[in-house]
Amino acid sequence: MADVLGAIDIGASTVLVGISTMNGELREGSVASIATPPTPSELLSVITSTLTRAAGSDSITKIGCVAPGPIDYESGVILRLHNMAWGPLPIVSALRDAFSCEVLLEDDAAAAAIAEALIGAGAGRSIVGYVTVSSGVGAGLVINGVRQGGAHGTAGEVGHLVLDPTGPVCNCGRRGDVESFAGGLSLVRQLVEVWPEPLDVHSSVRSPVELFQRASMGDERALVIRDRGRDALARCFAAVATLWDPEVIVVGGSVALGQTHWIDESVELAREYCMAEVSEGLHHEFANLGTRSSLIGAALLAAAT
Ligand SMILES: [Zn+2]
Repeated sequence: MADVLGAIDIGASTVLVGISTMNGELREGSVASIATPPTPSELLSVITSTLTRAAGSDSITKIGCVAPGPIDYESGVILRLHNMAWGPLPIVSALRDAFSCEVLLEDDAAAAAIAEALIGAGAGRSIVGYVTVSSGVGAGLVINGVRQGGAHGTAGEVGHLVLDPTGPVCNCGRRGDVESFAGGLSLVRQLVEVWPEPLDVHSSVRSPVELFQRASMGDERALVIRDRGRDALARCFAAVATLWDPEVIVVGGSVALGQTHWIDESVELAREYCMAEVSEGLHHEFANLGTRSSLIGAALLAAAT
């Protein structure tokens, strides 16, 4: 029986659970299957049972849990899980009660930023920006291994920077922000609006991939949606580069990693949205920890504190 750390990544449609060494090295990870969308008690129950099973006879001494924001760090509460359309969820107290150990809560993009900065594509650099394009769009800044959360913990919420107040509605309730044009959930929403029937009639799940397929087939409406997303991301990269001046912007998230050409184009376009000196320093690389970067970040968070 050894002391281990628990790591939890509550995502939009999946929950990843892992066990790590006390150094934050992920030993194993598993996907907890959740109902779509789960109720709060279903979600907590599946997280608890999966983590207990993963630990086996080992003793969990601390847990790092990450989730999409907004988060109240002081009370350890996920204020709202936009993708599940409910909240608040007092996750820290619930996990503390279940496992009798300290529980740390962090924004998932921030955790991925830490993981990529420390042991991923940003390793060896001291000022690393991170942008994730998955279900939503988020960002984080890590300086010398420490994430800069700002005065209220919201630094990097660039996905919710409004570009066009008349644009599509975002999960956060505002219109026309970066995420409403380029986030995976928003891309799918726009896809379903224009094409109620999937391209592949046998497919029951709609994904952003279908939109990019339609665009590559030359469909004008798909090209418009794709290019609006590219423009929104370009402004997002320009904002990150201008405000933070990182050595590198690591780009992760399932949509970004599946559409690297779209991201490359967005970064090139971003150069037109910032001044020449900022553009010269704008350099991006793709995340290399894959879809586990937030989970690894959760383990590193638990190990570091
Ligand atoms: Zn938003």
